[in-house]
Amino acid sequence: MNEQSIAAILHRQREAFRAGPPNLAQRRETLKRLGHAVKASAEELAQAVSADFGHRSRHETLMADIFPVIAAARHARFHLRRWMRARTVWPGLELAPSRARIMAQPLGVVGVVSPWNYPVNLALTPLVAALAAGDRVMLKPSELTPRTAETLKEMLGGLFLEEEVAVVLGGPEVGAAFCALPFDALLFTGSTEVGRKVLAATAETLTPATLELGGKSPCVIAPGADLAQAAACIAVGKLLNAGQSCIAPDYVLLPAEIKPIFVKLFTETVNKLYPSLLDNADYTSVISDAHYMRLTRMVEEARQSGAEIVVIDPANENPPPSSRKFAPTLILDPSEDLCVMREEIFGPILPALGYQTFDSALDFVNARPRPLALYYFGPEDRNLRRLLAGAHAGGVTVNQTMSHFVAENLPFGGVGPSGMGAYHGEAGFRAFSHAKPVLLQSRLDSRILLRPPYGKLTEAVLRFMLRG
Ligand code: NAD
Repeated sequence: MNEQSIAAILHRQREAFRAGPPNLAQRRETLKRLGHAVKASAEELAQAVSADFGHRSRHETLMADIFPVIAAARHARFHLRRWMRARTVWPGLELAPSRARIMAQPLGVVGVVSPWNYPVNLALTPLVAALAAGDRVMLKPSELTPRTAETLKEMLGGLFLEEEVAVVLGGPEVGAAFCALPFDALLFTGSTEVGRKVLAATAETLTPATLELGGKSPCVIAPGADLAQAAACIAVGKLLNAGQSCIAPDYVLLPAEIKPIFVKLFTETVNKLYPSLLDNADYTSVISDAHYMRLTRMVEEARQSGAEIVVIDPANENPPPSSRKFAPTLILDPSEDLCVMREEIFGPILPALGYQTFDSALDFVNARPRPLALYYFGPEDRNLRRLLAGAHAGGVTVNQTMSHFVAENLPFGGVGPSGMGAYHGEAGFRAFSHAKPVLLQSRLDSRILLRPPYGKLTEAVLRFMLRG
C-alpha cells in the first residue's frame, strides 16, 4: 500500500470521526463483538501464528496472544462507565462558586504499529484501548508474521467498516510512511532502534506517541530466596515463546556462591518442562533464520571469550538450524563487552552472573539503560524495599516473572530507552483520550472584583490571593 492510499484512509476515518464519538452502549457492544470474534478465531489465529514462526506452541498462543485480548476487552467493558464519567473537581476558592470537571474525550484516529513476537496480543490490546476511548484505529502489523496479519485483516474487516478500523499491511517502508501521518495519537511497539525513528517522525506532526520498546530485563535473586522456585519461574518465563518476549528475563544476577546450585536447578526444570525440543509441540521456534543466526553468533562469541556455556538439550537431539528450535543455553559470568550482555537477547539464552553483595547487583542494574521489566526473587525485606526504591524499570514482578503484564489494573510501559507512556486497562483508555478541563462559571462571578479600573477592592482581593 502506498503513502497516498494510507493517507486517504486516515482522511476518511477523520471525516467519519467528525460525526461524533460512540456512546457507552456502542463502545461496550463494539468491545463485546471484538472479544467474541477473537474467541471464535482463536484456533485459526493460533495456526497462522504457528505457520509464521515455523512452529509456535498452540497453548502459548492461546495464553499469551488470545487471552490478553479477550481479558482486556472484558475489563474495559466492565469499567468503561466509570472511565468515561466526567470527574468533578474543586475549582479553587478564588473561582468559587463556579464548577469544574475533567472530561475524557476521544482523540480521533489512533495509529498502532505492532511487532511479530506476540502478533495478535500486541496488535489487538492497543485496539481495545483505543475503541474503549471512542477512537478510530489504523493498524500496521509486522511483516514478519504475514499470515497472522492477513488473518487479522480478514477478521477485523468482517467486524468493522474501514472508516472505523483499518489494517495496513507492509514492511519498514510502509511503517515509516504510516508513522509520518498526522494521527491524533500513535502507539508503537517494537525495538528501541526503530522507536527512535518513530519518535522523530511523530515530532514532525506533533502526534502524541506511546512507545512500547525493549531492553534487557534483569532478574535479581536475593539472599534468602527460594532457589528452586526462582529457577523454575525464570525457566518458564525465559522459555515462553522461546525467549522472544519483550519482558522475558534477559539475565540473572545471583549470589556467586549459589551459582552451581542454580545451574543444576535450572537445568532440571528445563528437562522437566521440555523433555525434548525438536518435535515438542510446546517448544516454540525462533522466528527467522536471521534471528537464529544472531543467537548462534552470541553464544559462539561468548564461547570464544572463554565463558562457560551450558547447553540444555534434554533428549540429545542437537536440533538442526533448519528447525529453528534453539536449545536453552546458560552462559555463566560472560564479560560485559560481549553481545549477549550488550544487546537484548530475545531468545532462549540466559546469562547468569554471580555477585558478591546485593549492593553490587543493584549498582549493576542501575549502571545500565532502564529496562522494561525487573524481577526480584527473595523475601519481602529490606533488599526488596531498596530495589523498589532505587532501581528504575518499566514494571516489576516479585517472586515470579512477567505477571505484572497480565494485571489490567497495572499500567504497562517502559521508562527511558524501554519506552514512554503506558497502556492496559484504564491507562490505555487515558492514553487515547484527551483529559479536557472544563470550567462552568456561575452567575455569581468573583472575577468582577479583578476588573479595571483597579482600586482598593482589587488591592484587598489581591492581598487574599497572595496570602501564601
Ligand atoms: P521492530 O522495531 O523491528 O518492528 C516493529 C514494527 O515496526 C513492525 O511492524 C515494523 O514493520 C515496523 N517498522 C520497521 N521500521 C519502521 C520504521 N522505520 N518506521 C516505522 N515503523 C517501522 O521490532 P520487532 O523486531 O518486530 O519486535 C521486537 C522488538 O520489540 C524487541 O526489541 C522487543 O523488546 C520489542 N517489544 C516490545 C514490547 C513492549 O510491549 N514494550 C512488546 C513486544 C516487543
